[in-house]
Amino acid sequence: MQCELCGAPIVGPSKTIQIEGAELCVCVRCAKHGTEVQQPRRKGAPQKKPGLAAPQARRRPRDVFDLMEGEIVDDYADRIRAAREGKEWSTLDLAQAIKERELLVKKIEKGDLIPEDDVRRKLEKALSIRLIDSTEDSTSTGGPGRVTMTVGDVISFKKSRK
Ligand SMILES: [Zn+2]
Repeated sequence: MQCELCGAPIVGPSKTIQIEGAELCVCVRCAKHGTEVQQPRRKGAPQKKPGLAAPQARRRPRDVFDLMEGEIVDDYADRIRAAREGKEWSTLDLAQAIKERELLVKKIEKGDLIPEDDVRRKLEKALSIRLIDSTEDSTSTGGPGRVTMTVGDVISFKKSRK
């Protein structure tokens, strides 16, 4: 290892300094020519801790989002079947439209299986129906005066339901 400033081999501890924006690895004698960098980059950035911060940051908005959307209606099975029959589709036609297995569609229509979010969205799209029980549908006409929930409202709303 050589000093990047004077070129002499570095014996013992090296110093990382900054001179006019450039980081140099220098010998102890040359360290006084620049500003010493306390945390050299090659050690990684200890203040980041990506393993701890990332999962929590991902989870929170999704939680709120799910709640904002409401919950699946009790009669989802009837709504799906009625909408499908309205289109004169077989369960296989519907399964192909949403790229799922026919068995899954049959189970959902019997009420044996509550469709997961992604399947539910595909069903809603394919059949042009709503399967989510949101307060908006029953109370709002879509005009002005519509209730807008803040994140704080949502959280207290969620707590009060438990
Ligand atoms: Zn040097």
